[in-house]
Amino acid sequence: MVNRIHIVGGGWSGIAAAVRAVQAGLAVHLYDMAPQLGGRARSVVHQGQSLDNGQHVLVGACQQTLALMQTLGLEPNDLLARIPLRLAVPAGPQANWMAHSHPIRQLWGLITDPDWSWTERWQWSRTLAALRWSQSHRWAHQSVEDWLGRFATGSVHHWLGVLCVCVMNLPPHLASAGLFLKVLQSALGQPGGSDVLVPRVGLSQLLPQAAYAWLERHGAVVHLHHRVAELGGLLAAGPVVLAASAAESARLAAPHAPVWADAMHALSHSAIATVYTQWDDTPPRLSDPLVFLPPHHDQPAQVIIDLGAIGHTHHATGCWAWVVSHAQGSREVITQGVLAQAQHQWAKQPRVLGTLMEKRATVNCTPDTHRPGFAVAPGLWACGDAVDGDFPSTLEGAIASGQACIQAVLADG
Ligand SMILES: Cc1cc2nc3c(=O)[nH]c(=O)nc-3n(C[C@H](O)[C@H](O)[C@H](O)COP(=O)(O)OP(=O)(O)OC[C@H]3O[C@@H](n4cnc5c(N)ncnc54)[C@H](O)[C@@H]3O)c2cc1C
Repeated sequence: MVNRIHIVGGGWSGIAAAVRAVQAGLAVHLYDMAPQLGGRARSVVHQGQSLDNGQHVLVGACQQTLALMQTLGLEPNDLLARIPLRLAVPAGPQANWMAHSHPIRQLWGLITDPDWSWTERWQWSRTLAALRWSQSHRWAHQSVEDWLGRFATGSVHHWLGVLCVCVMNLPPHLASAGLFLKVLQSALGQPGGSDVLVPRVGLSQLLPQAAYAWLERHGAVVHLHHRVAELGGLLAAGPVVLAASAAESARLAAPHAPVWADAMHALSHSAIATVYTQWDDTPPRLSDPLVFLPPHHDQPAQVIIDLGAIGHTHHATGCWAWVVSHAQGSREVITQGVLAQAQHQWAKQPRVLGTLMEKRATVNCTPDTHRPGFAVAPGLWACGDAVDGDFPSTLEGAIASGQACIQAVLADG
């Protein structure tokens, strides 16, 4: 009978695991080597100003994240701006029909959209039907490009390729079709599921700070500034859950489960950069608070989020986050590339507040990737976005993994 658990890593997966363990009546010890909870999804101070460690967004289908926020006493509708996905570019939305919250109304909006040719309506209808009926497990070992090559043509192929880079942090020829299909099926299969949810507050305020207070209030012991160097002592005291980065989980597990540790160590990662900028004069008008940028080989950002327009509590009018998924090159090259994008699009450039770049932002989920599972060794478990699951490397994936891992520990007795 389990009555005490040690969780190593206080990112969003470790937080979710700790909350679920407290709810199950376990005595919880949560360790993180950082001075705060949150892991990769946290606020940072950059040159005296509070920024996020990279712009994060969620989608309406992220049910487990929204439910966890509510458990912690947070109100998602206050903390997240909900932006209907209309495939907007700076000139305006390209797919108004997508903004309908119900899938049936979306389909009707598509068929009757006067801005679209009959060819486009047919192309999208065909691809949406294929999306609905494709069995994701059958596509687990093929790429998104393989799926698109079979079921998407014209603008559909282009837009699903853009969404793939944003969701998977990988271009279509490298990303796992199985996981991408799961994300799209859940986003398009429920009312409001495809809405983009953008934090209106700093990432730490969005969840980790409230989680820290909730855990302490419910009797969990949170050890910050505490790097777990080896597991021997903890394992002697009960089950241990690794919720650390892939590299640290592999290092800690190696003496107990070398095969599992090798699989974790073999995972590769991709970078994400965010360039935060400020327009000191009147900002260019964007049709939506989130717009996609036309792809161009030397213009790195795929998305702009207008943080001023969504009423972000840390940012003024004219503050934009330029998101560079699958980022290549140095911070300086990316910053210059984003300024060139602004120049190209609006013939002027904003002031740069800071460029934040995380080299190991997400675990690459390719058709060949083998993310190891929860069960590491007797009494030793793991969760996080590097552990096998139904989601790519995302916040929702991290939270789902943390919760499912505790269920597995409890089921094991
Ligand atoms: C720039 C950027 C943009 C992103 N954008 C999005 C997005 O838009 N939407 C989305 O859903 N996801 C996004 N992600 C991915 C998302 O942030 C991650 O999937 C998620 O945060 C992973 O959480 P985790 O708990 O699995 O791991 P982590 O956040 O890496 O947490 C691991 C924790 O373990 C701690 N730790 C490590 N070793 C030890 C040790 N030995 N002892 C004690 N503690 C230890 C670390 O300090 C850390 O706090 C983005 C990531 C980045 C970096």
